[in-house]
Amino acid sequence: SAMREQRIRKTKTVCTFCGVGCTFDVWTKGREILKIEPTEDAPVNGISTCVKGKFGWDFVNSEERLTKPLIRRGDTFYEASWDEALSLIAEKFGELKAKFGPDALGFISSSKVTNEENYLMQKLARGVIGTNNIDNCSRYCQSPATDGLMRTVGIGGDAGTIQDIAKAGLVIIVGANPAEAHPVLATRVKRAHKLNGQKLMVVDLRKHEMAERADLFVRPKPGSDHVWLSAVTKYIIDKQWHDVQFLNDKVVGFSEYVESLRPYTLEYAEQETGISKTQLMEMASMIHEADGVAVLWAMGVTQQRGGSETSGAISDLLLVTGNFARPGAGAFPLRGHNNVQGACDFGTLPNWLPGYQLVSDEAARRNFARAWGVDMPAAPGMDNQMMLNAILEGDLHGMYLMGEDMAWVDTNSNHVHEALSQLDFFVVQDVFLTKTAQFADVVLPASPSLEKEGTFTNTERRIQRLYQVLEPLGESKPDWEIITAIANRLGAGWTYRDPSEVMAEVAALAPIFAGVSYERLEGYRSLLWPVASDGTDTPRLYMDGFAHADGKARLVRANWIAPAKPAGEFDLHLNNGRLLEHFHEGNMTDKSSGLREKVPDTFVEVSVELAQERGIRDGSFVLLESPYGKVKVHAVVTDRVHGNELYLPMNTTSEASAVNLLTGPTTDTRTNTPAYKETFVRMEVLRVK
Ligand code: SF4
Repeated sequence: SAMREQRIRKTKTVCTFCGVGCTFDVWTKGREILKIEPTEDAPVNGISTCVKGKFGWDFVNSEERLTKPLIRRGDTFYEASWDEALSLIAEKFGELKAKFGPDALGFISSSKVTNEENYLMQKLARGVIGTNNIDNCSRYCQSPATDGLMRTVGIGGDAGTIQDIAKAGLVIIVGANPAEAHPVLATRVKRAHKLNGQKLMVVDLRKHEMAERADLFVRPKPGSDHVWLSAVTKYIIDKQWHDVQFLNDKVVGFSEYVESLRPYTLEYAEQETGISKTQLMEMASMIHEADGVAVLWAMGVTQQRGGSETSGAISDLLLVTGNFARPGAGAFPLRGHNNVQGACDFGTLPNWLPGYQLVSDEAARRNFARAWGVDMPAAPGMDNQMMLNAILEGDLHGMYLMGEDMAWVDTNSNHVHEALSQLDFFVVQDVFLTKTAQFADVVLPASPSLEKEGTFTNTERRIQRLYQVLEPLGESKPDWEIITAIANRLGAGWTYRDPSEVMAEVAALAPIFAGVSYERLEGYRSLLWPVASDGTDTPRLYMDGFAHADGKARLVRANWIAPAKPAGEFDLHLNNGRLLEHFHEGNMTDKSSGLREKVPDTFVEVSVELAQERGIRDGSFVLLESPYGKVKVHAVVTDRVHGNELYLPMNTTSEASAVNLLTGPTTDTRTNTPAYKETFVRMEVLRVK
């Protein structure tokens, strides 16, 4: 009623702007958001938030929200009823499946939507359509970290909690910018560093805020992290600083590993990384002397051709020094999106069923097939990259994409646009009419997190509930309701009334979630998976052994995949990443006036040296061109970057400055994650200013 609408309400939610997983109360009156109030009860952040969590929410009332389904007519869309849109989708997907088989359809899920919604998306693909062609945007970021950890310690998640990071004697941050990308987590490190004598080592191309604070800041050549990691580990072993007891008891493959380290001498590392021998030895000493080492890494490591191998090398270093299965230590890949961890955990991957059970494992597959009452396809499906290529090759005809702006987020946007425009039938589900949605045949209006219930899983593997703060705007609907409606139009007969019923189904099918239930997640309570059926959760992994059948970790052989180098006219290395004020490609934070005003336009960072050489000033207007496309942006001259390295933030929706117009088709050798960080451009000054 109108009376009720005007009551002031306070509702708990989980922040959706990064993987830290802050929780807080949202105070509302009708649709007006009065304030964000963090509380002592919040397990991750307590009474802290960052600028995005505090001020990033007015996008939910944006005029640009999608409020009705849209159907394409020629070059435009008309507003349609849900009934018409759903009928059309069922008819077209049914037709394409009948004509070309189930593998002619592809499904892209989202690290922004809930765990339950991710589960339903893969159930729709596998259980209703009958294909494993399902992926999510971890393919653009953290799949290499998952691969490196799976192969060594056995679980693709953070070894401990953010508390463990705060407890570490030494924190090493490699290719990550947590002060801007994971602000509340960075605050914990800043505090431990300032007050508790924690040591901080930062290895990055860019001198960002954490680098400024570090006890040791090292700038390697682009793409050479694997080399210093291997050389430092070799030096530690040569010095007899390795943890012999730990290696004997808990790790296999040491001698083969040591053999593979042979080429990684300090001299070789100095030559390939540009880090001096003295500094390499200092790095080794800091690791040796620390009481607990935690390594944090992100896209600077993973978005390279050797991203998986380098992630494995990080895990190797930690194993050799006994830095797993103890407080204040371990591997911490920092998840970018709020639910990138959960999207993977709940099975929106072409080779994994929910709870990291392999599609190729017959027993696991049979279990799901029995529960769902269907036959399950046994062959792993296509990932994002393979799906795009399959469209261009005429093998993939229909696609259903939820909550992902692939047209800007994937590398080589021009190639992506070409592929998307060739789909026979394309359904996009989002909160806004994104660039990707403009290629769609049907656009479905989804409700953002504040308008639905469900759970998210943060970078620590912590599962937390969000409660509905607002009614869905207009005719928009929560993603789980939309997926269910589509499944049912295709004859699935799903009966979910509430996301808690979805979670109950997952708990019965995935042992790592056995004890997860909405009751156990009530209010500010949370669970870190694996969760035993009695509800015991796992804040710190591997205390009872590593996640392989024999309980032992494996060392992976050192195998550096050297990055491409600038060549010919494309003589500059272009790096990219986040800004504090914006979230990812910006399609939510851009609609938030508070945030947009802080950083209205994007820019490219140019080093002082390069600016001098090319006659560039602060505010000069430049053209950047790669073999794949070009952008025009203003220059900022700064010592955050050095030499021939440029930095272009990715948070933009402006057609003129999107970094992915420049990035190319190269991918990580093991996971097919695009090598965003191996991009080379030429720069031309258009206007000095
Ligand atoms: Fe949200 Fe991340 Fe900021 Fe926390 S640190 S308030 S989760 S954006």
